[in-house]
Amino acid sequence: MTTETTLSSPDFTGLGLSEPILRAIAEAGYTTPTPIQAQAIPQVLAGGDLLAAAQTGTGKTAGFTLPILHQLSTRAAQAPKPGRPRCLILVPTRELAAQVEESVKTYGKYLNLTSMVMFGGVNINPQLKALRSRLDILVATPGRLLDHMGQKTVDLSGVEMLVLDEADRMLDMGFIRDIKKVLAVVPKQRQTLLFSATFSDEIKTLANSLLRNPGCIEVARRNTTVEIIEQTLHRVPQAHKRDLLAHLINHHDWQQVLVFTRTKHGANKLAEKLIKDGITAAAIHGNKSQSARTKALASFKDGSVRVLVATDIAARGIDIDQLPQVVNFELPNVAEDYVHRIGRTGRAGSTGSALSLVDDEELSYLRDIEKLIKRSIVRVEIEPGFVPPAKADLISEDRPPRPPQGRGGRGQGQNARQPQSGNRNASGRAPQGQATTAGAGAKPTPSRAAQPRKPRPQASLSSAKPGSRGH
Ligand code: AMP
Repeated sequence: MTTETTLSSPDFTGLGLSEPILRAIAEAGYTTPTPIQAQAIPQVLAGGDLLAAAQTGTGKTAGFTLPILHQLSTRAAQAPKPGRPRCLILVPTRELAAQVEESVKTYGKYLNLTSMVMFGGVNINPQLKALRSRLDILVATPGRLLDHMGQKTVDLSGVEMLVLDEADRMLDMGFIRDIKKVLAVVPKQRQTLLFSATFSDEIKTLANSLLRNPGCIEVARRNTTVEIIEQTLHRVPQAHKRDLLAHLINHHDWQQVLVFTRTKHGANKLAEKLIKDGITAAAIHGNKSQSARTKALASFKDGSVRVLVATDIAARGIDIDQLPQVVNFELPNVAEDYVHRIGRTGRAGSTGSALSLVDDEELSYLRDIEKLIKRSIVRVEIEPGFVPPAKADLISEDRPPRPPQGRGGRGQGQNARQPQSGNRNASGRAPQGQATTAGAGAKPTPSRAAQPRKPRPQASLSSAKPGSRGH
């Protein structure tokens, strides 16, 4: 990575994009290129390879889509052939694939280019039909692309431009062998763009094997993105989380909130609970059909569903403008996922808020996350208005694996489904002005991280200022 600039041009007109593209950008309502766009667009137009460190939320999709559309629409092409794309965009998930192709369509609406999206988990026949027509831009997940390659229904010999988007995720998801198979059949003479949020050794190796003398761009490094998001947490026993979340949604009148759970089962149970409490909610995860996922996402976007409960993988690439609120119902056990999750809010420069519900057993995850983001997340006491359920709806199946050392206060390792007095005690209302979390009351010697550092009797979420404890 070489550059860390905040270069931005006042508008899109100076970047060298053609008029039909500028018209589509204007219609999308964008007036100023984001830093990645300001840097990537001229570099891609100049024809070189590109290595870009950019997360979702930086405007990276337009950063590569716009110059690709320009290149494909302005340079001479061979006679188009069915199923033989000129540009291949590889992405890790179906949601991201759909969204990238949507961007291609939006920005390319005044161009005479064709595109299609290809991912697994859906009927292959419509894809086969689409591949029988002329095709300029193919957006695909690696697995389904390989299926088509195996069936010889797609021909990658005409690829002039190749994009690997969210390359780190593709590697995390085990796509490296699939990617290599694709690379083996695309022409050596091509322009390649690689986008990744992180740069592990594996990514560097991939980049070295893939890119020739690439330009390097780094924008919105993790901390920069993280800093614009208000991050708070409530200490709360797992067994109270569902009730607390329902309370918070009503109390703060959140109209659009994305909630992350660690398990698919947990996502379903939580959505059911919220619906039971009169809050419109839907769950998306890998066990849901693609059409159910698409429907849930559409309802969430149009506001008919207030709460979308998602697992990490399912939420990858969810693109919602100005999503105001993200909730981590459980902390992810991989600290990087925290950054990906909260990156759903505070996008393209807007601010957002991320609240985590943290049980005692998640404190080691919390420490890892705070180490990664190099700041501590503000502990906020739960408003006195929340009354924990007398009989907790125990949700042991959702909890993270227990750390080896036992902990007191919640069932002492009993089957958590049994009603227990230990839990009841722990969940009793704490005196006003104290956190009403069992975690705070149940542990004789809570760790430093387990305690609000200052008593904040009336603290509410809105009173927590971002970064007030940052360092
Ligand atoms: P991305 O990082 O590509 O996922 O984009 C994040 C969000 O920013 C998307 O919702 C885009 O529609 C939006 N966006 C991209 N470029 C701009 C821009 N120049 N001005 C305003 N919003 C943008």
